[in-house]
Amino acid sequence: MSLLIVGTTALDSIKTPHQENPRLLGGSASHAAIAASFFAPAQLMGVVGDDFPSEYTALYEKHGIDLSGLERSKGNTFHWEGEYEVNMNNRRTLETDLGVIEHWMPSVPSSLAESQYVLLANCAPQLQHHVLKQLKSPQFVVADTMDLWLNIARQELEALLKEVDCLVLNDSEARQLMEEDNLVVATQEMHRFGPRYIIVKKGEHGAILSGPKGLFVAPAFPLKTVIDPTGAGDSFVGGMLGYLAEKGGDIESHLRQAIIHGSVTASFCCEGFGVTTTTQTTRQDIDQRVRELVDLVSF
Ligand code: AMP
Repeated sequence: MSLLIVGTTALDSIKTPHQENPRLLGGSASHAAIAASFFAPAQLMGVVGDDFPSEYTALYEKHGIDLSGLERSKGNTFHWEGEYEVNMNNRRTLETDLGVIEHWMPSVPSSLAESQYVLLANCAPQLQHHVLKQLKSPQFVVADTMDLWLNIARQELEALLKEVDCLVLNDSEARQLMEEDNLVVATQEMHRFGPRYIIVKKGEHGAILSGPKGLFVAPAFPLKTVIDPTGAGDSFVGGMLGYLAEKGGDIESHLRQAIIHGSVTASFCCEGFGVTTTTQTTRQDIDQRVRELVDLVSF
Protein backbone atom coordinates (compact mmCIF):
# COMPACT_ATOMS: atom_id res chain seq x y z
CA MET A 1 0.00 0.00 0.00
CA SER A 2 1.26 3.51 -0.77
CA LEU A 3 2.48 5.56 2.15
CA LEU A 4 3.04 9.32 1.94
CA ILE A 5 5.01 11.25 4.56
CA VAL A 6 5.19 15.03 4.66
CA GLY A 7 7.14 17.02 7.23
CA THR A 8 10.52 18.62 7.85
CA THR A 9 13.66 17.49 6.05
CA ALA A 10 16.33 19.10 8.16
CA LEU A 11 19.90 19.53 9.18
CA ASP A 12 20.16 18.92 12.94
CA SER A 13 22.98 20.10 15.18
CA ILE A 14 22.79 18.03 18.34
CA LYS A 15 24.66 18.41 21.62
CA THR A 16 24.63 15.77 24.32
CA PRO A 17 26.69 15.82 27.54
CA HIS A 18 29.26 13.63 25.75
CA GLN A 19 29.31 14.72 22.12
CA GLU A 20 28.44 17.43 19.65
CA ASN A 21 27.40 16.66 16.09
CA PRO A 22 26.64 19.44 13.61
CA ARG A 23 24.39 19.29 10.55
CA LEU A 24 23.24 15.69 10.69
CA LEU A 25 20.39 14.47 8.51
CA GLY A 26 17.23 15.08 10.55
CA GLY A 27 13.70 16.38 10.40
CA SER A 28 10.40 14.74 11.25
CA ALA A 29 9.82 13.43 7.70
CA SER A 30 13.37 12.07 7.33
CA HIS A 31 13.23 10.02 10.53
CA ALA A 32 9.69 8.84 9.80
CA ALA A 33 10.33 7.88 6.16
CA ILE A 34 13.47 5.92 6.98
CA ALA A 35 11.62 4.09 9.78
CA ALA A 36 8.62 3.38 7.53
CA SER A 37 10.84 2.07 4.74
CA PHE A 38 11.55 -1.15 6.70
CA PHE A 39 7.91 -2.10 6.18
CA ALA A 40 6.55 -0.43 3.03
CA PRO A 41 7.79 1.82 0.21
CA ALA A 42 7.68 5.38 1.53
CA GLN A 43 7.04 8.54 -0.46
CA LEU A 44 8.61 11.66 1.01
CA MET A 45 7.32 15.23 0.65
CA GLY A 46 9.64 17.93 1.92
CA VAL A 47 11.83 20.81 0.88
CA VAL A 48 15.59 21.25 1.14
CA GLY A 49 17.91 24.13 0.30
CA ASP A 50 21.01 24.22 -1.86
CA ASP A 51 23.16 23.39 1.20
CA PHE A 52 21.59 19.92 1.54
CA PRO A 53 24.41 17.38 1.14
CA SER A 54 24.06 14.88 -1.70
CA GLU A 55 25.09 12.03 0.63
CA TYR A 56 21.86 12.65 2.58
CA THR A 57 19.82 12.29 -0.61
CA ALA A 58 21.74 9.06 -1.20
CA LEU A 59 20.69 7.84 2.26
CA TYR A 60 17.01 8.35 1.35
CA GLU A 61 17.66 6.47 -1.88
CA LYS A 62 19.39 3.62 -0.04
CA HIS A 63 16.07 3.12 1.77
CA GLY A 64 14.13 3.09 -1.49
CA ILE A 65 12.30 6.30 -0.55
CA ASP A 66 10.37 7.90 -3.43
CA LEU A 67 11.74 11.45 -3.73
CA SER A 68 9.37 12.79 -6.40
CA GLY A 69 7.86 15.05 -3.70
CA LEU A 70 11.20 16.34 -2.39
CA GLU A 71 11.66 19.90 -3.61
CA ARG A 72 15.02 21.62 -3.89
CA SER A 73 14.86 25.37 -3.36
CA LYS A 74 17.32 28.27 -3.31
CA GLY A 75 18.28 29.07 0.28
CA ASN A 76 19.04 27.20 3.50
CA THR A 77 17.65 23.87 4.58
CA PHE A 78 15.58 23.93 7.80
CA HIS A 79 18.18 23.83 10.59
CA TRP A 80 17.44 22.79 14.17
CA GLU A 81 19.88 22.93 17.06
CA GLY A 82 19.16 21.14 20.31
CA GLU A 83 20.90 20.23 23.54
CA TYR A 84 20.22 17.34 25.94
CA GLU A 85 20.68 17.32 29.69
CA VAL A 86 22.58 14.52 31.43
CA ASN A 87 19.41 12.41 31.86
CA MET A 88 18.96 12.42 28.02
CA ASN A 89 15.23 13.06 28.44
CA ASN A 90 15.16 16.81 28.86
CA ARG A 91 15.98 18.69 25.69
CA ARG A 92 16.30 22.37 24.94
CA THR A 93 15.93 23.90 21.49
CA LEU A 94 18.85 26.31 21.05
CA GLU A 95 17.92 27.57 17.59
CA THR A 96 15.48 26.92 14.77
CA ASP A 97 16.16 28.38 11.33
CA LEU A 98 13.15 27.65 9.12
CA GLY A 99 15.04 28.40 5.91
CA VAL A 100 13.25 27.27 2.74
CA ILE A 101 10.35 25.63 4.59
CA GLU A 102 9.09 29.00 5.87
CA HIS A 103 7.10 29.82 2.73
CA TRP A 104 6.74 26.30 1.34
CA MET A 105 3.16 25.52 0.28
CA PRO A 106 3.67 22.58 -2.09
CA SER A 107 1.50 21.12 -4.81
CA VAL A 108 1.22 17.39 -4.29
CA PRO A 109 2.53 15.62 -7.44
CA SER A 110 -0.26 13.59 -9.07
CA SER A 111 1.72 10.38 -8.51
CA LEU A 112 1.46 10.96 -4.72
CA ALA A 113 -2.09 12.34 -4.48
CA GLU A 114 -3.59 8.83 -4.53
CA SER A 115 -1.64 7.69 -1.45
CA GLN A 116 -3.76 5.70 0.98
CA TYR A 117 -1.70 5.86 4.16
CA VAL A 118 -0.63 9.36 5.08
CA LEU A 119 1.62 10.70 7.80
CA LEU A 120 1.44 14.44 8.41
CA ALA A 121 4.70 14.40 10.37
CA ASN A 122 5.46 17.24 12.74
CA CYS A 123 5.43 20.61 10.94
CA ALA A 124 3.14 23.67 10.85
CA PRO A 125 -0.54 22.57 10.96
CA GLN A 126 -1.31 24.95 8.06
CA LEU A 127 1.18 23.03 5.92
CA GLN A 128 -0.18 19.65 7.07
CA HIS A 129 -3.73 20.78 6.19
CA HIS A 130 -2.65 22.23 2.84
CA VAL A 131 -1.19 18.86 1.81
CA LEU A 132 -4.11 16.83 3.18
CA LYS A 133 -6.64 18.87 1.16
CA GLN A 134 -4.91 17.87 -2.08
CA LEU A 135 -5.12 14.11 -1.48
CA LYS A 136 -7.78 12.16 -3.37
CA SER A 137 -9.09 9.54 -0.94
CA PRO A 138 -6.66 8.69 1.85
CA GLN A 139 -7.64 5.65 3.87
CA PHE A 140 -5.80 6.40 7.12
CA VAL A 141 -4.34 9.79 8.04
CA VAL A 142 -2.08 10.30 11.05
CA ALA A 143 -1.00 13.74 12.29
CA ASP A 144 1.94 14.30 14.63
CA THR A 145 2.44 17.63 16.36
CA MET A 146 4.43 19.41 19.09
CA ASP A 147 4.08 22.04 21.82
CA LEU A 148 5.22 24.86 19.51
CA TRP A 149 2.08 24.48 17.39
CA LEU A 150 -0.16 24.25 20.47
CA ASN A 151 1.31 27.60 21.48
CA ILE A 152 1.31 29.49 18.19
CA ALA A 153 -1.18 27.75 15.86
CA ARG A 154 -3.88 26.28 18.09
CA GLN A 155 -6.81 27.21 15.81
CA GLU A 156 -5.12 25.80 12.71
CA LEU A 157 -4.31 22.60 14.61
CA GLU A 158 -7.90 22.19 15.78
CA ALA A 159 -9.16 22.68 12.19
CA LEU A 160 -6.78 19.96 11.00
CA LEU A 161 -7.75 17.52 13.75
CA LYS A 162 -11.34 17.43 12.49
CA GLU A 163 -10.02 15.71 9.35
CA VAL A 164 -7.50 13.16 10.58
CA ASP A 165 -8.00 9.60 11.82
CA CYS A 166 -5.22 9.56 14.37
CA LEU A 167 -3.39 12.18 16.44
CA VAL A 168 0.04 11.46 17.89
CA LEU A 169 1.69 13.69 20.46
CA ASN A 170 3.80 13.33 23.58
CA ASP A 171 2.63 13.20 27.19
CA SER A 172 3.48 16.78 28.18
CA GLU A 173 1.78 18.06 25.02
CA ALA A 174 -1.34 15.98 25.78
CA ARG A 175 -1.51 17.46 29.28
CA GLN A 176 -1.03 20.96 27.86
CA LEU A 177 -3.68 20.54 25.14
CA MET A 178 -6.28 19.16 27.55
CA GLU A 179 -5.25 21.19 30.63
CA GLU A 180 -5.45 17.88 32.49
CA ASP A 181 -2.70 16.24 34.56
CA ASN A 182 -4.12 12.71 34.49
CA LEU A 183 -2.81 11.24 31.25
CA VAL A 184 -5.53 8.59 30.88
CA VAL A 185 -8.23 11.25 31.15
CA ALA A 186 -6.34 13.61 28.83
CA THR A 187 -5.85 10.85 26.23
CA GLN A 188 -9.49 9.79 26.21
CA GLU A 189 -10.85 13.33 26.14
CA MET A 190 -8.78 14.26 23.10
CA HIS A 191 -11.24 12.37 20.85
CA ARG A 192 -13.51 15.39 21.08
CA PHE A 193 -11.19 17.21 18.66
CA GLY A 194 -12.09 14.62 16.00
CA PRO A 195 -9.59 11.74 15.69
CA ARG A 196 -10.87 8.19 16.27
CA TYR A 197 -7.44 7.19 17.50
CA ILE A 198 -5.22 9.07 19.92
CA ILE A 199 -1.67 7.95 20.62
CA VAL A 200 0.31 9.53 23.43
CA LYS A 201 4.08 8.94 23.40
CA LYS A 202 5.82 8.68 26.75
CA GLY A 203 9.46 8.42 25.67
CA GLU A 204 11.29 5.64 27.52
CA HIS A 205 7.96 4.64 29.10
CA GLY A 206 6.27 3.65 25.84
CA ALA A 207 2.94 4.85 24.50
CA ILE A 208 -0.82 4.72 25.14
CA LEU A 209 -3.43 4.23 22.44
CA SER A 210 -7.06 5.18 22.86
CA GLY A 211 -9.44 3.98 20.15
CA PRO A 212 -12.94 2.62 19.54
CA LYS A 213 -11.97 -0.59 21.38
CA GLY A 214 -10.56 1.21 24.41
CA LEU A 215 -7.01 1.56 25.66
CA PHE A 216 -3.79 -0.23 24.74
CA VAL A 217 -0.58 0.29 26.68
CA ALA A 218 2.66 -0.31 24.75
CA PRO A 219 6.09 -0.54 26.35
CA ALA A 220 9.27 0.98 24.98
CA PHE A 221 12.16 -1.42 24.38
CA PRO A 222 14.43 -1.07 27.43
CA LEU A 223 17.83 0.25 26.33
CA LYS A 224 21.04 0.29 28.37
CA THR A 225 22.57 3.08 26.32
CA VAL A 226 20.85 6.07 24.80
CA ILE A 227 23.16 8.07 22.55
CA ASP A 228 20.67 10.50 20.97
CA PRO A 229 16.86 10.24 21.21
CA THR A 230 16.28 12.91 18.55
CA GLY A 231 13.75 11.60 16.06
CA ALA A 232 12.57 8.72 18.23
CA GLY A 233 8.99 10.00 18.15
CA ASP A 234 9.11 10.37 14.37
CA SER A 235 10.64 6.90 13.99
CA PHE A 236 7.89 5.50 16.23
CA VAL A 237 5.08 6.92 14.11
CA GLY A 238 6.87 6.17 10.81
CA GLY A 239 7.46 2.55 11.82
CA MET A 240 3.88 2.23 13.02
CA LEU A 241 2.34 3.57 9.82
CA GLY A 242 4.81 1.61 7.67
CA TYR A 243 3.65 -1.57 9.38
CA LEU A 244 -0.02 -0.68 8.78
CA ALA A 245 0.71 0.05 5.11
CA GLU A 246 2.50 -3.29 4.80
CA LYS A 247 -0.45 -5.20 6.25
CA GLY A 248 -3.25 -3.22 4.54
CA GLY A 249 -6.90 -3.98 5.30
CA ASP A 250 -8.58 -3.24 8.57
CA ILE A 251 -6.62 -0.80 10.76
CA GLU A 252 -8.07 -2.07 14.02
CA SER A 253 -6.75 -5.62 13.54
CA HIS A 254 -3.14 -4.49 13.05
CA LEU A 255 -2.84 -1.34 15.15
CA ARG A 256 -1.46 -2.90 18.34
CA GLN A 257 1.20 -4.83 16.43
CA ALA A 258 1.96 -1.66 14.47
CA ILE A 259 2.53 0.31 17.68
CA ILE A 260 4.91 -2.36 19.00
CA HIS A 261 6.85 -2.34 15.71
CA GLY A 262 6.99 1.49 15.84
CA SER A 263 8.21 1.37 19.41
CA VAL A 264 11.00 -1.07 18.52
CA THR A 265 12.03 0.90 15.41
CA ALA A 266 12.34 3.99 17.63
CA SER A 267 14.66 2.13 19.99
CA PHE A 268 17.24 1.75 17.20
CA CYS A 269 17.02 5.49 16.51
CA CYS A 270 18.07 6.25 20.13
CA GLU A 271 21.22 4.14 19.85
CA GLY A 272 23.08 6.50 17.55
CA PHE A 273 23.25 10.16 16.52
CA GLY A 274 20.62 11.30 14.04
CA VAL A 275 19.72 8.44 11.70
CA THR A 276 23.11 6.70 12.01
CA THR A 277 21.92 3.53 13.72
CA THR A 278 18.50 3.42 12.08
CA THR A 279 20.10 3.39 8.63
CA GLN A 280 22.27 0.41 9.64
CA THR A 281 19.33 -1.56 10.99
CA THR A 282 17.59 -4.36 9.08
CA ARG A 283 14.05 -5.70 9.16
CA GLN A 284 15.47 -8.86 10.77
CA ASP A 285 16.92 -6.75 13.63
CA ILE A 286 13.50 -5.16 14.18
CA ASP A 287 11.67 -8.50 14.14
CA GLN A 288 14.18 -9.99 16.58
CA ARG A 289 13.73 -7.08 19.00
CA VAL A 290 9.93 -7.36 18.71
CA ARG A 291 10.23 -11.01 19.80
CA GLU A 292 12.41 -9.97 22.76
CA LEU A 293 9.90 -7.30 23.74
CA VAL A 294 6.99 -9.76 23.57
CA ASP A 295 8.96 -12.01 25.92
CA LEU A 296 9.69 -9.14 28.28
CA VAL A 297 6.01 -8.25 28.73
CA SER A 298 4.32 -11.64 28.77
CA PHE A 299 3.04 -12.87 32.12
P1 AMP B 1 11.55 14.20 17.90
O1 AMP B 1 12.84 13.91 18.62
O2 AMP B 1 10.82 12.96 17.48
O3 AMP B 1 10.71 15.16 18.64
O4 AMP B 1 11.92 14.92 16.53
C1 AMP B 1 13.09 15.65 16.33
C2 AMP B 1 13.14 16.17 14.90
O5 AMP B 1 12.17 17.22 14.77
C3 AMP B 1 14.48 16.76 14.56
O6 AMP B 1 15.09 15.97 13.55
C4 AMP B 1 14.18 18.19 14.08
O7 AMP B 1 14.78 18.51 12.87
C5 AMP B 1 12.68 18.22 13.95
N1 AMP B 1 12.12 19.50 14.40
C6 AMP B 1 12.57 20.31 15.38
N2 AMP B 1 11.78 21.41 15.51
C7 AMP B 1 10.78 21.26 14.61
C8 AMP B 1 9.65 22.03 14.25
N3 AMP B 1 9.37 23.20 14.84
N4 AMP B 1 8.82 21.56 13.28
C9 AMP B 1 9.08 20.38 12.69
N5 AMP B 1 10.15 19.61 12.96
C10 AMP B 1 10.99 20.03 13.91
